Amino acid sequence: MPELPEVETSCRGIRPWIVDTMITRVVVRDRRLRWPVAKGVERKLQKQLIDSVDRRAKYLLIRTGAGTIILHLGMTGSLFIVDQGTPAGIHDHVDFELDSGKILRFRDPRRFGSFHLSRAPLQHPLLAKLGPEPLGKDFDGDYLWRRSRGRKVSVKQFIMNAQIVVGVGNIYASESLFRAGINPKRSAGRIARHRYAALAEAIKDILQRAISAGGTTLRDFYGGDGEPGYFKQQLEVYDREGEHCRFCDTLISAFVQGQRSTYYCKSCQT
Ligand SMILES: [Zn+2]
Repeated sequence: MPELPEVETSCRGIRPWIVDTMITRVVVRDRRLRWPVAKGVERKLQKQLIDSVDRRAKYLLIRTGAGTIILHLGMTGSLFIVDQGTPAGIHDHVDFELDSGKILRFRDPRRFGSFHLSRAPLQHPLLAKLGPEPLGKDFDGDYLWRRSRGRKVSVKQFIMNAQIVVGVGNIYASESLFRAGINPKRSAGRIARHRYAALAEAIKDILQRAISAGGTTLRDFYGGDGEPGYFKQQLEVYDREGEHCRFCDTLISAFVQGQRSTYYCKSCQT
């Protein structure tokens, strides 16, 4: 599933190709995405100039005079640029034809992605209740500490809650808790302020490194297969059950928490 770093890389990858170009035509080949694509968006977007493209959580926001396209990549979605006339594959559901002669193409084999047009994207139900960006200045240890008081939920589920902070997916939650030395089972409300400072720093650092790694794949957005994939990053605990902790040699443990696998080191994380 594309995580925040992959979405940020998609945003940076498509930006130079689409900003300040005009949409000449939108082709929706299959409206059955996670939510059906509204009828009439093709007409509304025709002849609209693309002003900007940004990311909020795992949504791409493509601003035009007719409103903002809110695009989510779902489980298997990807965006890439092809020349006009490039035949569409079976999973290429939406094309934005541009006056530059290129096409911004949305591919999504499992169709869990989504596509909405909104005049007030940040107030859209999908985005209105989202917590702060993990790389933004509103997110730090004090914020996590304040929000966690009185909460009995595990710290891992707490940081994966998008209303608390967006974009901390399962891999990043496990890795940042390891980095901060915090046991993922611990109640969010019973973690001291200084430990949340370490956790917030770990989350920022790990996400930032993944985004930097993604920078090396930017050229793949033109003409490529649109699947830059997961960035190679050394994982300390995630998917390493039964392997030795790189710090203390204890075997990495795994268990299921909120229907997701959690990996941790019993010795390093207390
Ligand atoms: Zn260890």
